[in-house]
Amino acid sequence: MARLFEYEGKEYLKGAGIAIAQGEVVSTAKEAREVATKLGKPVVVKAQVWAGGRGKAGGIKLADTPEEAEKAANNILGMEIKGFPVRKVLVEEKLDIAKEYYAGVVPDGSWTSRCPVLMFSTEGGMDIESVPEDKIFRIKLDYLKGFPVYDALDLASSAGVSNELLKGMAGALSNMVEAFKKCDCNILEINPLIVTKGGKVIAGDCRMGVDDSASYRHPEMKIDIPREFPWEPSEFDVIGWGIEETDLRGSGFVMKMTLDESSTGYIGFHAIGGGAAMIGIDALSRVGLKAANFADTSGNPVGSKVYRVAKTIFAQPNIEGYLLAGFMISNQEQWHHAHALVKVLRDELPKRPGFPCVLLLAGNKEEESQKILKEGLEGLPGRIEIYGREHVEDSDFIGNRMVALVEEYRKEKGS
Ligand code: GDP
Ligand code: MN
Repeated sequence: MARLFEYEGKEYLKGAGIAIAQGEVVSTAKEAREVATKLGKPVVVKAQVWAGGRGKAGGIKLADTPEEAEKAANNILGMEIKGFPVRKVLVEEKLDIAKEYYAGVVPDGSWTSRCPVLMFSTEGGMDIESVPEDKIFRIKLDYLKGFPVYDALDLASSAGVSNELLKGMAGALSNMVEAFKKCDCNILEINPLIVTKGGKVIAGDCRMGVDDSASYRHPEMKIDIPREFPWEPSEFDVIGWGIEETDLRGSGFVMKMTLDESSTGYIGFHAIGGGAAMIGIDALSRVGLKAANFADTSGNPVGSKVYRVAKTIFAQPNIEGYLLAGFMISNQEQWHHAHALVKVLRDELPKRPGFPCVLLLAGNKEEESQKILKEGLEGLPGRIEIYGREHVEDSDFIGNRMVALVEEYRKEKGS
């Protein structure tokens, strides 16, 4: 699911008729000061990251003057919130909050619903998970029938919204459902949905996630990669996605797992299938190593696709080893992997003598694959170990071999 930032999501809310605070997104403290000066009133400076709980983490600060806004932005822009580096802040007019509500639309796949559900609560501002169940009101959305305003009124009034606020609140809820549909959302959450002291209903936050399969209908959203991403995709990720997007033969997905390019202990990680990927990452972490990236080549990709993925993995500057984590007896024809890896390692190993490579490859055409690997890699200046089905259930063994080779390699390099 592709996520949008708060400032992006709010623009779509605005387009659907929901009020938002005046403001602008910036990436430097100086610009934050300029926006605050332009707004000419107290502001709130908000970290733009794909994570909730920014308030508690110190990523949201009130500022009465442009100087304070600059200071707050300076502080927030250096922060990391739940592992996400803050690269942008939203500077918005500060709202005079009378009460915070919660509103969210999420698909409910359970057999009793099988439709999007609108959730509403008078207890906004905190995580919906910590709101008592009897304070959360729900209504199932029927796309054919639409979401008539009397349903919205009903929901708001049963949740306890006072009479004078009912109309504004119901209007915001029905606009929210429109935005959910129009943007092909998988989630749309406004928490808090603010009622100001002046009685206006304003979206105080916005979490919007868009269905990956529908992202092509929204070029305006500029979603580089229609997948769940922890941070804005890097150049590496965009190149990796290009492999998947331009070749539909099997899957070949590769993305970064860390932004840290200076620490040791990172392994170029290449799994065959999602389950194998989890086993492989666990095996690495049990021996104190980390996956620099995630990669999966499964569904019987052709050799050229596997080659492109593995080549991309090797482009990472800080890796101390390469692991092919084929923790499965795969029914894809493994010789495509074998051919691809021979070519990649013949390209790469002469550039880095002694580099540790543990290759676990089992399944259909296993014997042939092992032969291709052994013959093709013979005499290369790496620390190459090749394993097959006898080790497919033995992730500790594979992890231990990986770390042993990495230690030898470090010693040899004198690091
Ligand atoms: P989250 O913690 O990442 O969900 O960030 P939110 O955008 O939901 O903000 C967290 C809290 O900061 C809100 O629940 C409000 O209490 C507070 N806050 C955000 N914007 C304003 C504002 O304009 N005025 C005031 N007084 N408080 C705000
Ligand atoms: Mn929030």
